[in-house]
Amino acid sequence: MKLQTLPTDAASILALTWSDYEPHYQELESRELRSENIDTWLNDWSTLAATADEQYWRLYIATTVNTADPAIEERFNKYVEAMQPSVKTAEQKLKDKLLASGLSPKGFETALRRIQAEAEIFSETNLPLLAEEQKLVTEYNKITGSLTVNWEGEERTLAQMFPLFYEQERSIRQRAWEMVHTQIFKERQHFSRLWERFLPLRTKIAENVGLPDYRAYTWNQKFRFDYSPEDCKSFHTAIEEVFVPAAQRVYEKRRQRLGLDTLRPWDLSVDPLGGSPIKPYESMDEFKTKLRTVFEQVDPAFGNYFQIMMDENLLDLESRKNKAAGGYSLGLHVAHRPFVFMSHSNTPWDIQTMLHEGGHAFHEFERAHCHFYQRGEIYLPQEFGEVASMSMELLASPYKTKESGGFYTDHEQARTMIELLEGIITFLPYMALVDAFQHWIYENPSLSVDASRCEEKWAELWDRFIIGIDYSGLEDAKKTYWHRQGHIFASPFYYIEYGLAQLGAIQVWANARRDQHKAVADYRKALALGATVPLPELYSTAGAKFAFDAKTVKEAADLVEEVIEEMEAKL
Ligand SMILES: [Zn+2]
Repeated sequence: MKLQTLPTDAASILALTWSDYEPHYQELESRELRSENIDTWLNDWSTLAATADEQYWRLYIATTVNTADPAIEERFNKYVEAMQPSVKTAEQKLKDKLLASGLSPKGFETALRRIQAEAEIFSETNLPLLAEEQKLVTEYNKITGSLTVNWEGEERTLAQMFPLFYEQERSIRQRAWEMVHTQIFKERQHFSRLWERFLPLRTKIAENVGLPDYRAYTWNQKFRFDYSPEDCKSFHTAIEEVFVPAAQRVYEKRRQRLGLDTLRPWDLSVDPLGGSPIKPYESMDEFKTKLRTVFEQVDPAFGNYFQIMMDENLLDLESRKNKAAGGYSLGLHVAHRPFVFMSHSNTPWDIQTMLHEGGHAFHEFERAHCHFYQRGEIYLPQEFGEVASMSMELLASPYKTKESGGFYTDHEQARTMIELLEGIITFLPYMALVDAFQHWIYENPSLSVDASRCEEKWAELWDRFIIGIDYSGLEDAKKTYWHRQGHIFASPFYYIEYGLAQLGAIQVWANARRDQHKAVADYRKALALGATVPLPELYSTAGAKFAFDAKTVKEAADLVEEVIEEMEAKL
C-alpha cells in the first residue's frame, strides 16, 4: 500500500488526527526489518516521529504564548489526552521492533542504548498518569503566568517588575521585591496543593515500572548513563567548597560597595558602584538586529541562522500579560527550525537570555541532519544541550560592545561582564541547592508529599549553599522560594545539567581566550554531533572535560575570578 506523504506545513500538521498517523505506524510495524532496508525504515520512522513531535510542540508553544485562551488549552489537553497515548504506544512498538530485530545500524548505537532504556521504563499503565502530569504542569504555568503586580497604578507582569531591582533608590527596590513576594506568597496554598498532587503521581509512575523511586525512573528517562546520583552529590560538595566561599566574596564586595550593614534580597541586582540601570536598546527591532550582529561575529553561520529566525517569525520576545514565565528555545523538527520565547524587560538580562537561547537555537540548526532519535529534545542530553547555550553566553561576550555593533559602552561592557561572571559564581551554589533538594524529595517521598516539610528542607539546604544574603524577617520568602523554581514542578531533576554544562562552557570559553577561531570550530563540531555519541565524547569534541571533581571546579572558579579582576580594572 502506498501511503500518502505526511504534511510539512504548520497548519496541516496541527490538523492531523490519530487516523492520519495510524496507517503510517501500522505500515512501519508490518515491514520486515533486514540490514538492507533498515536505513530506509529508520528514515521513514524519523519523519513520522518528528511530525507527531512537532504537532505536540506547536500546541505547547501556543499555550505559553497565551496562557489565558481556553480554546488553546483545550486543544493542547485534547492532544495530550487523546493523541499522545496512541502516539507513544505506537512509537514504543517500533522501538520494540527495532530492539527485537537485533540489528544495530551503524551510527545508531547511542540512540539504541537510549531506546533500550526507554523500553525498560515504558508501561501503558503510566500513559494516563503522564498525561495527568502534563496537565498539572499547565496548571502550574497558569498560576505563575497570571501573577501581576499593581505598581503605582499600573498593572505589571513579574518580568516587568524586574528592572526595578536595578534602581539605585533602595526603598524602591525593597518595595518592588516585597510586592512581587506578596503576589507569589498569596498562591502558597495553591502551589502546595498542586505539589501534593505531583509527588504521589511521580511515585506511582516509578512504582508501575518496578523501580524503587522516581529518581531511578528519571535516571533512565533522562538517559543518565555517564554519571550517578553519587556523582551529583560529589559535585554539590565541590561547589560547597569552592563556589560557596567565592559567592560569599561576591556578596561581601557588593555589601561594602553599597555601604550596607547587611545585604538583603533586593540588593542583588543594582549596580554597586552607583551606575544608573543599563537600558541596552530602544525597540524590539534594535534588540533583534543587534543580536544578529553579535552572533555573526562569533561565526557567520550563527548570524545567518538568526536572520532566518527573524524572517520566519520564530521569535516571541516581548513581555505581555498571559505569557508563561521564563524563556526557552524549542525545536520544530519537521520545519527544522527552533522557536525562541522570552519576556523582555529591557535590561542586560534580555541580552544574556537571548545569547543563551540563541545557543540552543543554533544547536537545532547544526544537528538538523541527524535522525529524529538523535536530534529531538528528549534524546539530546541536556548536560550538553546547555553547553551549547552557556558557551554562547561567554563566546559572544566580546562582541556586545557598541564598538562591535552591539549594545554596550566599554564601561557598561565591563559592568555587565562582571555581572555575568558573578552571576555564574552565585548561580552554582543555587543550582546545587535545587538539585540537592530534588534528591531529598525523591529519596523521602513519604515526607516530601507534605509541602510544609519541603519548605523546611528547602530552608535548611538554602542555609548550606546560600551564604551572605540576609533573609532575617523574610523566612516565609526563603522557605517558599522553590515555588517559583519551575523545574521542580515541570521538569523534575532538570537542573544539574546547568551546573555540569556551566563547567563545560567555562572550559570552552577558556579555549576561546587562547584561540577563538579553533574554540568556535570545535564547539560547532560538537553541536553537529547531535546525540550520536555519549556525553564525555560530546564534551571532548567541544574541547572540554565532562567532570564533577573539585579540581576542575576550582580551575573554573579561578578563571572566572581572574576575569572579574581584569574587568574591575576597567571600571
Ligand atoms: Zn538552556
